[in-house]
Amino acid sequence: CGIFAYLNYLTPKSRQEVLDLLVTGLKRLEYRGYDSTGVAIDSPDNKNIVMVKRTGKVKVLEEAIQEHFSGKEYSEPVPTHVGIAHTRWATHGVPCEKNSHPHRSDDENGFVVVHNGIITNYNDVKTFLSKRGYEFESDTDTEVFAKLVHHLWKTHPTYSFRELVEQAILQVEGAFAIAVKSKYFPGECVASRRSSPLLVGIKTKTRLATDHIPILYGKDDKKLSPDQDADSGKPQDIRPHGQSRELPVLPRSESTSEF
Ligand code: GLU
Repeated sequence: CGIFAYLNYLTPKSRQEVLDLLVTGLKRLEYRGYDSTGVAIDSPDNKNIVMVKRTGKVKVLEEAIQEHFSGKEYSEPVPTHVGIAHTRWATHGVPCEKNSHPHRSDDENGFVVVHNGIITNYNDVKTFLSKRGYEFESDTDTEVFAKLVHHLWKTHPTYSFRELVEQAILQVEGAFAIAVKSKYFPGECVASRRSSPLLVGIKTKTRLATDHIPILYGKDDKKLSPDQDADSGKPQDIRPHGQSRELPVLPRSESTSEF
């Protein structure tokens, strides 16, 4: 699949502009997955997160976005804004709206997540969270991540957003790239990857920090092309639909039952 996140600090932008950027990002990534799509942005009062998801191609989402965010309340420029977006190639759970990303931690959309790849120990994490009262609304492996971050946020109130995601990453196995947005940390976005590519582009007032070229660094800081696996340097394996590829099992700091 493809994940895309946008964080704006420099020039106030309207939500419509943010949405246009997210949709453009998804269109560029559409070849990586096209069974369903979704976006999450802040609500007009900046206190909540609004999500729109659709089964089908980005075009279908684009139309749904136009309808959903056509109100005047979305046209006001906002100084800081975070949006995340996803185009899916299902591995766990059939393509349908409830399995589309972003996935959420709870019905208040405390944490929302877009994810590329597979969380191989999602069943263990799901059992752990179910015992603590979490109910799941999708069949995906991804949803456990949003709920795990929420659980950590409740149990570790002093953690920063980055620390919460770091701690959650330590508990999950598999290969993935992930971007997380939270209503409790407005204006922030945390992204991470393990054995999946993730490009970060930074635009400053004077120039693009990446000299206009997205740079990916592998193990030995060698420059990689976007279709190379960041750890092995081999060409990225584009997964046939419904099949999983061999995934690395990474050491974990604590077992699922301990965190
Ligand atoms: N495993 C996740 C899912 O099935 C992400 C799949 C993808 O990379 O598109 O929703």
